[in-house]
Amino acid sequence: MKVFLYNGDKSDEEEKEDRATQSLLNKLIRSNVVNNTNQVEVLQRDPNSPLYSVKTFEELRLKPQLLKGVYEMGFNRPSKIQENALPMMLAEPPQNLIAQSQSGTGKTAAFVLAMLSHVDPSLKWPQCLCISPTYELALQTGKVIEQMGKFYPEVKLAYAVRGHKMERGVKIKEQIVIGTPGTVLDWCIKLKLIDPKKIKVFVLDEADVMIATQGHQDQSIRIQRMLPKGCQMLLFSATFEDSVWKFAERVVPDPNIIKLKREEETLDTIKQYYVLCNSKEDKFNALCNIYGAITIAQAMIFCHTRKTANWLAGQLSKEGHQVALLSGEMVVEQRAAVIERFRDGKEKVLITTNVCARGIDVEQVSVVINFDLPLDKDGNPDNETYLHRIGRTGRFGKRGLAVNMVDSQRNKKIGRLDTDDLDEIE
Ligand code: ADP
Repeated sequence: MKVFLYNGDKSDEEEKEDRATQSLLNKLIRSNVVNNTNQVEVLQRDPNSPLYSVKTFEELRLKPQLLKGVYEMGFNRPSKIQENALPMMLAEPPQNLIAQSQSGTGKTAAFVLAMLSHVDPSLKWPQCLCISPTYELALQTGKVIEQMGKFYPEVKLAYAVRGHKMERGVKIKEQIVIGTPGTVLDWCIKLKLIDPKKIKVFVLDEADVMIATQGHQDQSIRIQRMLPKGCQMLLFSATFEDSVWKFAERVVPDPNIIKLKREEETLDTIKQYYVLCNSKEDKFNALCNIYGAITIAQAMIFCHTRKTANWLAGQLSKEGHQVALLSGEMVVEQRAAVIERFRDGKEKVLITTNVCARGIDVEQVSVVINFDLPLDKDGNPDNETYLHRIGRTGRFGKRGLAVNMVDSQRNKKIGRLDTDDLDEIE
């Protein structure tokens, strides 16, 4: 039986897939922009040029068709990162940018708006090129381009992804191309569908995921080298390890840099409880007792192993509860479908394993049940994961509830919940 997968045991490819999947699921589970109250750090290439940020989309003097698209998407004002990134990206002459902020802070929307603003729809060839680490992420970004460009139908989009078979030499007329590095490279070199010399804006999205594969890193650099001088280079990343930074500096010459620190997570608005249990059956009974109370809102239940997660989902279904199960056995499409159903409220409860949910932000979930408490690779309590899982960010964080099913009395700081007295958790 495979019990727990650790990062250290994974190959590069698995690790990259993992990060790409996390990133995709995060995008799918999110229904809103992440609030971040931290100060944006801006490092300007030219410190003498005026530093300016915008508080409204009107100030950007967008094309009316694009402003309409922005409002149609429900955006009222620029997000924190957009306040600074948008004026820089839309400036004349074009400026290069490296931007880092956690997933959900509005990076994609920002560069999509920049690409749409820079194309000339009367020219029938690719002018903006965006590369994403995986097929699914490319499609996801493509959707945003289509949504935002809804009232600008003259601008067309092509997907350079696997499965999109093209014949050699047939020129592409679409002004924006989004794709994965391998296919984009083929389209430029082997098939000669894109003339890289005519690209005005180059976007490299999810740089941290991209560089987890050496092949992708090399392909990205090869693509970048074919672009003309004066092409605007934009790079985005959710995290900024040294390796991402080194890569970013190779791909983006003379960059402006924008960084937004991840919001600290706090437990201020979380009520935490523990239930003492001797076995998984015990935990299951306790869970049934509080089931009505936890499903008033949406709940996520975390188990240590797939086996427990499967078992628990089976048991709850037998009791007549409708639950969703997110499991590592599922392919990405299946996981995405489960997440989307949960996000849309079709299921109130999502059961998952610690590993499968690693890195997924569940900010709109207000109840977290740790059927098994998270452990680190040495089997010790994993406080960081615990905090990230149940913590809320920002002053606007909703009140939440965390219930921990514990096998021993190790964790004394958390108040004990009497499952026969449910008034307490209201
Ligand atoms: P990131 O690329 O940093 O992960 P996204 O651009 O995908 O972030 O934005 C996250 C979510 O927030 C998306 O659902 C997006 O539609 C929404 N969003 C982005 N910008 C804004 C904004 N200015 N106002 C409201 N919602 C926004």
